[in-house]
Amino acid sequence: MGEQGRVAVIGGGLTGLTCARALADAGHAVAVFDKGRGIGGRLATRRTEGGLRFDHGAQVLPATDPGFAALLDTMVCDGHAAEWNDGFVGTPGMAQIPRALAQGMDVYTGAMVTALDHGPTGWHLRGTGIDHHADTVVLAIPAPQARDLLGAGHAFVAPLAQVRYQASITVMAGLDPEAPRPFVTHRGTGALAWVAQDGAKPGRDGQPLTTWVVQADPDFSMTHIDLPFAELADLIAPQLLDLLGARPDHLHHAVAHRWLYALTETALGQPFLADDTTGLIVGGDWALGPHAEHGWASGRAMAAHLLARP
Ligand SMILES: Cc1cc2nc3c(=O)[nH]c(=O)nc-3n(C[C@H](O)[C@H](O)[C@H](O)COP(=O)(O)OP(=O)(O)OC[C@H]3O[C@@H](n4cnc5c(N)ncnc54)[C@H](O)[C@@H]3O)c2cc1C
Repeated sequence: MGEQGRVAVIGGGLTGLTCARALADAGHAVAVFDKGRGIGGRLATRRTEGGLRFDHGAQVLPATDPGFAALLDTMVCDGHAAEWNDGFVGTPGMAQIPRALAQGMDVYTGAMVTALDHGPTGWHLRGTGIDHHADTVVLAIPAPQARDLLGAGHAFVAPLAQVRYQASITVMAGLDPEAPRPFVTHRGTGALAWVAQDGAKPGRDGQPLTTWVVQADPDFSMTHIDLPFAELADLIAPQLLDLLGARPDHLHHAVAHRWLYALTETALGQPFLADDTTGLIVGGDWALGPHAEHGWASGRAMAAHLLARP
């Protein structure tokens, strides 16, 4: 890739930021666009006006790849992450990991790319407030959204259609500090497939309530995916109270969230799809597997591929 290559990265989750970081460190002009209010995608931390914080997306990041482990070890040394429960978490929240990766980079948030066209002068990205030109595009968004952006006629649509996801309904609950706390994490089924005392993770001190994150299993999540958030919270919070042995008056906060594309069920089986003629590369966790480290590996592989081009 020529030294002056202008790269647009669409998607500021771990995959996009990993690729962007490697390209920026190699001297390329990189701009990252994310439709979210902040960066990080599913490495997310929700803050409430009442001073609560919840990791409502990824819970704990396993790092079986030595390269990913080395990155997270560095983040631990720099105070952006900590070891917890056989993996890593961001501190003071999971979103700190993508924030640390993005430091010093050109990142546009609230920037949803809705049209992506290639012409004689390269790529043209458009969207709300976006009118951007680039030589190379890195598309690092969930596979179904990548398919929509590329359009029905694109050669990558068929391989992207093979990728399958599991949904996740998540409830963030705040309980009186005096309520029972019988465990830190619990694995079950149905609505209570994963229950974590989020506030017990490192760096979460000083919150007025005990914070819990509950994630339902894929079957429960798909069955209830269309229910309004308030109904989801009303359905799941009492089950949490029963599990903890807590009383209804212990519950002061219960808000639901829905992740339609939570975890990869069927991966592509290769780290990315690339079209070197137009300068397009598409990747994500979905290329390799269900965990954040698969997104990291895809992002690294995309950057290596682009940097190896003449
Ligand atoms: C409920 C849940 C629990 C999980 N638990 C774990 C866990 O415990 N451990 C683990 O390792 N992993 C877990 N994961 C998976 C992990 O979060 C993902 O593997 C990882 O975050 C994927 O990163 P990514 O960058 O590939 O995708 P994403 O994080 O989805 O990033 C994609 C980004 O693209 C943006 N975007 C999409 N379309 C556009 C557009 N048109 N224009 C601009 N921006 C766009 C989005 O806003 C988003 O920020 C969990 C995920 C969920 C949802």
